[in-house]
Amino acid sequence: MKILVINAGSSSLKYQLLDMADESVIAKGNCDRIGIDGHIKHTTFDGRTVDTDCPFPTHTEAFEKLVEVLTMGDASVVKSMEEISAVGHRIVQGAEIFDKTTLVTDEVIQQIDDLSELAPVHNHPHALALRACKKVITPTTPQVAVFDTAFHQTMPPKAYMFGMPFECYEKLHVRKYGFHGTSHRFVTQALADALHRDIKDMKIVSCHLGNGSSITAVDGGKSIDTSMGFTPLDGVIMGTRSGSVDPSAVTFVAKKMGFNAAQMSDYLNKQSGFLGVSGISSDNRDITAAASHGDSRAKLAGEMLRYEIKKFIGSYAAIMNGLDAVLFTGGIGENSDDLRADVCHNMEYLGIKLDDSVNEGLRGKLARISTLDSKVEVWVVPTNEELLIARDTKALVESLK
Ligand code: ADP
Repeated sequence: MKILVINAGSSSLKYQLLDMADESVIAKGNCDRIGIDGHIKHTTFDGRTVDTDCPFPTHTEAFEKLVEVLTMGDASVVKSMEEISAVGHRIVQGAEIFDKTTLVTDEVIQQIDDLSELAPVHNHPHALALRACKKVITPTTPQVAVFDTAFHQTMPPKAYMFGMPFECYEKLHVRKYGFHGTSHRFVTQALADALHRDIKDMKIVSCHLGNGSSITAVDGGKSIDTSMGFTPLDGVIMGTRSGSVDPSAVTFVAKKMGFNAAQMSDYLNKQSGFLGVSGISSDNRDITAAASHGDSRAKLAGEMLRYEIKKFIGSYAAIMNGLDAVLFTGGIGENSDDLRADVCHNMEYLGIKLDDSVNEGLRGKLARISTLDSKVEVWVVPTNEELLIARDTKALVESLK
């Protein structure tokens, strides 16, 4: 069975075509600059490529081009789209409506679009892509929606409610939703599999650290709390996002700087985080390099992230009444040896002992980095959200037969 996985944004459409017989990637790429001009970059498993400009006024033209490169020309991988059994879409916000992977219908597309108010950057483009996909790819091919928020729908109210008037929740749907759920679900299950343990018996803190970062307490395979909140702005300091700040600081800064709500949101989402604190870059590699050359603000930004991760691990161990494993994933989590070392050192009280001799050069590898006598296992687990979306899509379409 071949499954096409789509991750659509407002101006891009990233895709992977997977062969579920061995879960290998047959082709992948990105239709970029939608609504601006248009460019496609496509690579097949055996190294054939398409890299060309082409007009993409809307997502529809991007899907048309995608069908063309998949089925025709030097880098084609299928004879016709009929060979593709289903399309799985990554959807950021499913709110309380979607607590699991869902078959896409016109009603579901409308519900995803209606949730745009809660995720303005993501959900409307997702809805555009779902409609375009339905139009371009054979209408009989099932489409499936996999939600970033669904994994966190198991959080109890005491974890997801804010201490604001109840009407904010009842009327405005303001609560913690959590994000990166597909990644947290994938990596925690991959870790349980690697340890040959039943995830139902495990207490795991999952640290997904990239441009956007979130940390989740996974107890018995269920998310019981997570660092991102109403939006992906909450939690630890990120590339350009502030993470948690005192809400009074937000109203104070808005007043002093003369920002309206949209400007303030932009300030916190795009000009804060590593970029805002360091004044240098949002990228962890640049921050690390600048810190090693003595830049004190870059050093501070890195220290803030490490400190906040430590606090989340400690607090999540407390709410789970114990800890079996901590795992690191995402661009920073998988690649930054020094961050993992800094976070895990001086955590012996919690039962965490890192083995520095194995904590290096692990890019893309599933590996234990704790000592054999560490009570808590510490692991690097490469994430693969596309694979989980493809697996969910396959399972759902098979259940329809
Ligand atoms: P996104 O959240 O956009 O998916 P990624 O998971 O790709 O982001 O993570 C991007 C982050 O990973 C960047 O801050 C980047 O600097 C960091 N990163 C990537 N490779 C390395 C590396 N070798 N060492 C340290 N940090 C890295």
